[in-house]
Order: sequence, then C-alpha cells, then structure tokens
Amino acid sequence: KELTDINKLTDEYLRLAYHGLRAKDKSFNATLNTSFDESLEKIEVIPQDIGRVILNLITNAFYACTERSRSAVSEKKLHQPENYEPTVSVSTKKSNNNVLITVEDNGNGIPQAIVDKIFQPFFTTKPTGQGTGLGLSLSYDIIKAHGGIINVETKQNEGLPAGKAGTEFIISLPTNKAV
Ligand code: ADP
Ligand code: MG
Repeated sequence: KELTDINKLTDEYLRLAYHGLRAKDKSFNATLNTSFDESLEKIEVIPQDIGRVILNLITNAFYACTERSRSAVSEKKLHQPENYEPTVSVSTKKSNNNVLITVEDNGNGIPQAIVDKIFQPFFTTKPTGQGTGLGLSLSYDIIKAHGGIINVETKQNEGLPAGKAGTEFIISLPTNKAV
C-alpha cells in the first residue's frame, strides 16, 4: 500500500477510460463532470487496484450511456422526443472517516431483477465478447480487501425523461485515522 492522493488517482484513470473508449469507438461521446474534494487527505491504498476499480466503474457507466443513446434514438421515433445527453459524473468527498468516490451515469439503470447479481463473477448482460462479467466482482473484492464497501443505487429507465434514470456506484474507503 502507498499513501495516495485519491483525487489525482481518480483523475488519471478517468482520462485513461475516456481516451481508451474514444480510441476504440470514434463515435463515442459523453459529457464528463468531475467534482473533487480538494480537502481530501491522502490515504493508504494499493493505487493500481483502486485505479482498476475506477476504470471498471467508468467503463460500465460510459457503456450504459451509449446504450441509452441508442434507445433514445428509437424512442424519438415513437412519441417521446427527448434530447438525451449522455453524462458521467465522478466525484470524491470526505464523509466522517471515509473517502467516498462516486461514479454516476444517466444510462438506462439496472433492472431490479438483476441488481442483486451484478457483483457475482461472470454475471454480464453484454453480448458475447463485449463483457466478461468480472469487472464488478473484482471491484467488490478489491474494495473489501481495503476494508471498504461498494454500493449501488439505480433508477431504471421506464420511459422516464432523460436525466431521471441512471446508476450511481459509491465506493467508501476508510481513512484509518483516529477520530
Ligand atoms: P461486464 O461489464 O463485463 O458486463 P461487470 O461486472 O462490470 O461486467 O458488470 C456486470 C453487469 O452489471 C453488466 O453486464 C450490466 O448488466 C450491469 N451494470 C454494471 N454497471 C452498470 C451501469 N452503470 N448501468 C447499467 N448496468 C450496469
Ligand atoms: Mg464492466
């Protein structure tokens, strides 16, 4: 473990994800919002592992936005014109003795029927070759090994106006400092 600036680490992996996805798919486009709590103190983590988790969550978030973009096009053909702006928001903040990293998207959300399964190894809803189903399971293990937790809040898109649906993953890492 190393004493790590979580803001710097998050920013670094955010860029990695964004540019990686752009390189793979030239039509890829999404708005990225960031909000970093500048008062965060450095914490002891394995930076590559936490970076991997951030990369997984952001990749999933962008994928969800891309999917929603596709369905927005067909919704428009029906009777629900909407201006969908794919948006991923990443933030850090301090909460008691924890550092929180949140990754939020305005994609389609996760159906209630599968939300309990997403952290299981090999669970994926992506077409063959597009997902291993290991990203969240690995992320869960990494965060647990750091003494933290990872939570998800999601609102499924059921013809809701853009912006009302989406998913938020919240990583909570202990600062391991006495109060
Ligand atoms: P993979 O990305 O390879 O499918 P993950 O473990 O990263 O594997 O995610 C498992 C599943 O959880 C995804 O296939 C998808 O169904 C769901 N999921 C994860 N993140 C999101 C998200 N941001 N929005 C909607 N669904 C998601
Ligand atoms: Mg994934």
